[in-house]
Amino acid sequence: MAEYITIRSSTKEQFIDITGLVQGVIDKMGIKDGLCVVYVPHTTAGITINENADPDVIGDIEGHLDKLVPGSGDYRHIEGNSPAHIKSSLVGHSVTIPIESGKLLLGRWQGIFFCEFDGPRARQVIVKLIKEV
Ligand code: ZN
Repeated sequence: MAEYITIRSSTKEQFIDITGLVQGVIDKMGIKDGLCVVYVPHTTAGITINENADPDVIGDIEGHLDKLVPGSGDYRHIEGNSPAHIKSSLVGHSVTIPIESGKLLLGRWQGIFFCEFDGPRARQVIVKLIKEV
C-alpha cells in the first residue's frame, strides 16, 4: 500500500517537517510493527531526517548546502537549476524508519523533512508501509 501526500512549498528552498503527516498515514493504515519508507519521486527535492527542535539546525544545513553548491557557477544543464539537482542528490530521496507499537521509532529530537530545492511548487511524497509478519 502506497500513500501519496501532496506538499506545497512556498519558497525556492524550504525544509518542511512532515513527521506528523507520515505518522498520520501509519495511524490511518493501522500498522503496528514494520517499516515506513518515505520517498520523493523528484529530481530537485529530497528527504532527510534531522533535528526538529531547534530550527537553527535546519537553517545551518540550508546555509551550508548553499556554500557547497553555489546558486550560480559553471553549470551545463540548460534548464538552469543544476544547484537544485545537486542538492537533491546530496540529501537523498528516501528514508526508512522502523515502526513499533504503531509509532515511528524516531529519536527524541528527530523529524522527517521534505527538502525543496526548486520551489515554490506542489510536490508528491510517497509513503510505503511494510507490515512485520
Ligand atoms: Zn533541471
